[in-house]
Amino acid sequence: MAEYALAVRARRAVTPDGVRPVTVGVRDGRITALAGLEQALDAAVTEELPDTEVLLPGLVDTHVHVNEPGRADWEGFATATRAAAAGGVTTLIDMPLNSLPPTTTAAALRLKQAAAAPAAWVDAGFWGGAVPGNLADLAGLHDAGVFGFKAFLIDSGVPEFGWLDAARLDAVLAETARLGALLIVHAEDPGVVGAAPGPSGRRYAGFLASRPPAAEEAAIAHLLAAAGRHGARVHILHLASAGALPLIATARAGGARVSVETCPHYLTFCAEDVPDGATEFKCCPPIRESEHRDGLWAGLADGLIDVVVSDHSPCPPALKQRETGDFGAAWGGISSLQLGLPAVWTQARARGHGLPDVVRWMAAGPAALAGLPGKGALAPGCDADLVAFDDGASFKVDPARLRHRHPVTPYAGQTLTGVVRRTWLRGREPGETPSGELLRRP
Ligand SMILES: [Zn+2]
Repeated sequence: MAEYALAVRARRAVTPDGVRPVTVGVRDGRITALAGLEQALDAAVTEELPDTEVLLPGLVDTHVHVNEPGRADWEGFATATRAAAAGGVTTLIDMPLNSLPPTTTAAALRLKQAAAAPAAWVDAGFWGGAVPGNLADLAGLHDAGVFGFKAFLIDSGVPEFGWLDAARLDAVLAETARLGALLIVHAEDPGVVGAAPGPSGRRYAGFLASRPPAAEEAAIAHLLAAAGRHGARVHILHLASAGALPLIATARAGGARVSVETCPHYLTFCAEDVPDGATEFKCCPPIRESEHRDGLWAGLADGLIDVVVSDHSPCPPALKQRETGDFGAAWGGISSLQLGLPAVWTQARARGHGLPDVVRWMAAGPAALAGLPGKGALAPGCDADLVAFDDGASFKVDPARLRHRHPVTPYAGQTLTGVVRRTWLRGREPGETPSGELLRRP
C-alpha cells in the first residue's frame, strides 16, 4: 500500500513560511508531509498543479448566515456549503440568527446540527447567540461546543433575536469571561442611529446617513469599556468605519483582548459608486465612502484588522425590494460566500498585497479566531483542506453560476481576478454525497 493517499505537487504554495514549491503528502485526511518539489512521495494518487495555479489552504469563513432550519428559503446548508466549496472555503462557522429557532439554547443547537449533518459539503461549526433572557443557556451552549457567542448592540433585523442594552451586555460579558468564551459583537449604537434621519427611499446617501460612522464608534467604545471591566475577550464583527480603528489601537495597546474583522464588500465597493435603488448593496453597517475603504485597507496592512470574512447574509429576492429600490424596506445583507476570495484578491493585488496576506486574513486568521488549530494552514498536522487557485485568471461574475440559493449579488457583472479551480476537503475532492463534518470547539 502507498504511504500516502494523495500527493499534491505545486510549484507555488502558500505555507506559513511563505510561498514555495512543495509536495503535500496526505494520509487519513491530514497533511502528514510537506516536502520539496524534488521529492517524490509514495502516494496512491499524485496531482500536479499547472504553473498557473497556486496551492492555498482552504479558507475559513467565520461569518456565514445559513438560515436553516426555519428560513431555508433564504439559504440552506446544501446550497451554502456548495457555494463555499466552489469559492475555496472549506470551513464555515454559522451565525446563530436568521434561522428559526435562533441558536440561543442547546436544544436549538441540536436542531441546527441535525439540519447541517446530512447536507454539509464543507466542515461547519456554530456560534451561539447571547440575547435578552438566555444568560442561563450560555454555559450549556458552551459545553455543547459552540465557538463563542454573538450579540447585537442594536436591533438585529429579526424579532426573535433581541439586542443587549448596557446592563445585559455587562451580565453577558461577566458570563463569557467566566466561561473563557469569545463574544462576537455587532457594534452599532442604537442612540446614534435613532437620532439620525430614517433610511426610507431610493437614495443610497439617505441610507448611509441613517447609520453614520459615529454609531459604530460609540458602540465599539462602549463595548471595549465593558469588556475591559470583565477582562473578557471580544471580537468586533464587520467593521465598516475606519474611524473606529484608533479606538481599537488604543485599547489593544492597553492590553484589551479584542480582535476585528471586515468583509469583502467594504474592501471592494464605496458609497460614491452605489446607484440609487440598488438595494443589493444594502448591509448593516453600510458600505461607506472610499476614505473608509482606504482606511480599512490600511488597518489590514498594519495588523489592526485581523480577519476578512464574508458576512454572507442572503434573503429571498423579494425581500431585497428591487422593484421599489427602497433602502428603508429592503433586507440588509450581502451574499458573497462564493466570491470572497477573488473579490479580496482583486483589491489586495492592486494595493500591493500578496497571497500570504490574503491567506492570513481569510484562512489562518479566522481559524485562530475560532480556535481551530487544524485549519487554515498548509502545515503538517493540519487537515488536508486545499485549494488550487489560478491567481492570474479573471472572470466576470455571472449570477447564474453562483451556488447560493439566490443569485442576488452586488458583484454581478464585476470582473474579478482569481479563479478557484479545485478544492479538497480533508484530502478529497467533492464526491457524490456531502462529506463535511460538524465541528465543535476543541
Ligand atoms: Zn452577519
